[in-house]
Amino acid sequence: TSALLEANNLVRVYQVRRGLFGTPTPVRAVNGVSIKLMPGETLGIVGESGSGKSTLGRMLLGIDPPQSGEVKFEGKPMAAPGTAGWRALRARMQFVYQDPLAALDRRLTIATQIGEPLDIHKLIPKEHRAARVEELMSAVGLRRDQADRFPHELSGGQRQRAVIARALASRPRLLVCDEPVSALDVSIQAQVVNMLRDLQEQNRIAMIFISHDLKVVRNIADRVAVMYLGQIVEEASSDVIFQSPRHPYTEALVSSVPVPGKILEGRRILQGEPPNPANRPSGCAFHPRCPLASDICRTSAPDLRSIGGGRTAACHLVPGETAPVAA
Ligand code: ATP
Ligand code: SF4
Ligand code: MG
Repeated sequence: TSALLEANNLVRVYQVRRGLFGTPTPVRAVNGVSIKLMPGETLGIVGESGSGKSTLGRMLLGIDPPQSGEVKFEGKPMAAPGTAGWRALRARMQFVYQDPLAALDRRLTIATQIGEPLDIHKLIPKEHRAARVEELMSAVGLRRDQADRFPHELSGGQRQRAVIARALASRPRLLVCDEPVSALDVSIQAQVVNMLRDLQEQNRIAMIFISHDLKVVRNIADRVAVMYLGQIVEEASSDVIFQSPRHPYTEALVSSVPVPGKILEGRRILQGEPPNPANRPSGCAFHPRCPLASDICRTSAPDLRSIGGGRTAACHLVPGETAPVAA
């Protein structure tokens, strides 16, 4: 099978002004990211605040076009935002982000909003609309009597369920979820994540799941890409990333997640300042915080390369695959 979504070498630079009269300086929010997503697959994207996750998510959906690089959806170059081609694609790619209250219109009932994509994309005859909305509500665990409620009459978790129901209405093939549970109570995060995973599996929807929280991603992702200062520094299947992280940054992230029943040996704590893309370190961008940094790390940036077993890493200490990769 061929990839549903493919991105090559995406770059996004923002001009950021420091203070009212400061001169604009370029900030590389995303600095050469490539990804590949197969139909039905879930790719988790993790990294600290400011690592470029949301910027990447918007580029993958064509909302924010890259300054260089290319996104292909279903094998075709992504249409430019606002064009008819892009509007046609929108039914097949949906975005769920952190704040459901901002995503919903407070003057409209839940049922009206869940059915919106059906109207916009003229997906079903009017007489079937109510039944489809009911089906969507039940799929996300909302009760029938909540249909006529307004967003502020629901809990945060219920609102996010409504947003997810609306995203599913057009039967998308791709869902990009940007911190979909971060604003929710910890006690209901797992419920919503499990629900997303079930719906995604049942409907064979591919998903990009963005989170700063590795615990959350572990539950849902087939593969995980770890971002640091606008770049992917390691990518592997979810189990492998957790069991044997290779990049020192991933090791630090993984060791900060408590695993029940597992004693933390050689735990690595992240030291130093959180990354700031306006002030990018030379060489390996992680070097000021890396316990293993040596001279070469300060001057030369490691490439992201295949390290065997279907995984990639960007670190001078992690040997690349010696055997040639068959095309
Ligand atoms: P978070 O976990 O906090 O959501 P993130 O990984 O999603 O972070 P982004 O929102 O993609 O990070 O931001 C990456 C960098 O780009 C940050 O330094 C941010 O300040 C900058 N940035 C993002 N959007 C803009 C914008 N519209 N204008 C200027 N700078 C921006
Ligand atoms: Fe650490 Fe050097 Fe590897 Fe960067 S390249 S992660 S600084 S060891
Ligand atoms: Mg973000």
